[in-house]
Amino acid sequence: MEYIAVVVLLFIGFYLFVQKRYLNQDDLKDSTYKKNGPLLNSKESAFYAALMTAVGDHGVVMSKVVMSKVVVPKASDKKGWFIANNRIAKSYFDYVVCDPRSLEVRVAIELDDGNPLNKGKIERQKLLMHVCKSAGIPLIGTSVKHSYQVGRLRRLLATHIDLIEPEKEVRFCKRCGSPMVIKTATQGDFKGRRFFTCSRQPHCTYTENYNIVFEDSE
Ligand SMILES: [Zn+2]
Repeated sequence: MEYIAVVVLLFIGFYLFVQKRYLNQDDLKDSTYKKNGPLLNSKESAFYAALMTAVGDHGVVMSKVVMSKVVVPKASDKKGWFIANNRIAKSYFDYVVCDPRSLEVRVAIELDDGNPLNKGKIERQKLLMHVCKSAGIPLIGTSVKHSYQVGRLRRLLATHIDLIEPEKEVRFCKRCGSPMVIKTATQGDFKGRRFFTCSRQPHCTYTENYNIVFEDSE
């Protein structure tokens, strides 16, 4: 709710600013507008609801986020920067899941509408994959037919965001039965990610993925 309030306040502020600064010059009166309907169509909002349920308090879900707000070109020369910026200028992410505190984007999600592949769709998917890969943003692709399964979504997300609250999660070693402790990987591909390890280490080396999501039936 706070975000909505902030957005509304920004809009009001922007409106007042525009009104004061420009409207008295009267050159906008030729352009009038009508509302463009809901931001999401029915399939998209159903997915949005499922995604919010899957993420819970562990992230903030935003939809139709302009790509250039999430990534910026790396190029240091002007021409390269301009070309790279132009490529993403009109694109957006279907959904992003952000860190609940910093609102940093943690994972991007593309919802396949189930329509057959055409040139535009292929171009978009190519761009998305390239942008996400080069910026180090995990990209999850899901299709409309799977999108309402909260359990499936949680499993997809669990690789990228922590869906578990450590203080509520008690696990026992499947090899020796001892309590397990949470550690953070300090090197390798999974650097920074948490995992469970047996408290009897080094006598027992059993480890477990932090984000095994125990799911209610789908
Ligand atoms: Zn053990």
